[in-house]
Amino acid sequence: MPSTFPIIDGHNDTLMNLLLPERGYGRSFFDNSEIGHVDLPRMQQGGMAGGFFAMFVPTPNEEEIITFTDQGYEVQLASGITQPYALERSGLMWDLLESLAGEEPDQFRICLSVDDIRQVLENGRAFAIPHIEGAEAILPDLANLEELYNRGIRSIGPVWSRNNAFGHGVPYAFPAMPDFGPGLTDPGRDLIRACNELGIMVDLSHLNLAGFSDVARLSDAPLVATHSCVHELCQSTRNLTDWQIDAIGESGGLIGIAFDVSMLRQDGDLNRETPVSVIVDHIDYVAERIGIQSVAFGSDFDGAVMPVDLPDSAALPGLIAELRTRGYDEESLALVTHENWLRVLNNTWN
Ligand SMILES: [Zn+2]
Repeated sequence: MPSTFPIIDGHNDTLMNLLLPERGYGRSFFDNSEIGHVDLPRMQQGGMAGGFFAMFVPTPNEEEIITFTDQGYEVQLASGITQPYALERSGLMWDLLESLAGEEPDQFRICLSVDDIRQVLENGRAFAIPHIEGAEAILPDLANLEELYNRGIRSIGPVWSRNNAFGHGVPYAFPAMPDFGPGLTDPGRDLIRACNELGIMVDLSHLNLAGFSDVARLSDAPLVATHSCVHELCQSTRNLTDWQIDAIGESGGLIGIAFDVSMLRQDGDLNRETPVSVIVDHIDYVAERIGIQSVAFGSDFDGAVMPVDLPDSAALPGLIAELRTRGYDEESLALVTHENWLRVLNNTWN
């Protein structure tokens, strides 16, 4: 009987899904649902112990506009959002997360340290790490950063794909390179330094190439992309070039491979009929290039379109089985499923 591994996942948008009327509003996190990708019963079924629960604030009243081209597509960036709006909306997600953890503390916890996470894993419970995706809620002079840290923020993506006071994001496009726009702004550089000081993880997914290179130069923490894939295998702007992958490897960092079908396929086709083996192609590529210690999962559950054979968190054992078929032994599986995340957090958090 093969052993099972607790899975730590780099990114989900479950809090947003639970709050948005057009998504999963009304479903309970504690009940098995057919809506969305993550709830506690499906996590338990799939062996997903926990991970980064994002607070992402969509631009109100604005749909992303996708234009198809001969070879692929381009997506028009959403407008920016104001700091008060971002703070208010992420506050709702934060309240929700705290109320979930308060409702069933024996089953689901917020974890702010590696010791906390290890304890949760030992007891077979589930956990969330609070993550801000797109730092609009933070004042550009960082006056409220410490307050957010004290409330429990342990991971920040300076930008989502839309630009803000800290930097420039990559709009979704295929085929295209992630080199859109200039590097970090002055507040952006201050934010990276402040995150290093407080021990907040900086997430490079969604950041443009110039911004990435600024963080690589400035940061003294391991470089992390929580939900990205390999540009060489799928030329989406959201994916990492070989140079970025190497920089992450050299820093002792980590890439959470996303399951989003728009980031997986060579042909860029937005097609759910994408085999799980393609996810393993991306994992293989990173493992072979920079080592097995630098690759993990970063699903993007509840924030992206999943392959038909990996429709939600309950289906994760299928991905583990595919990794076994492809030659991943018990030691490698322990690293990819959870040990790599624990090491990086241990080397990042204070
Ligand atoms: Zn994202």
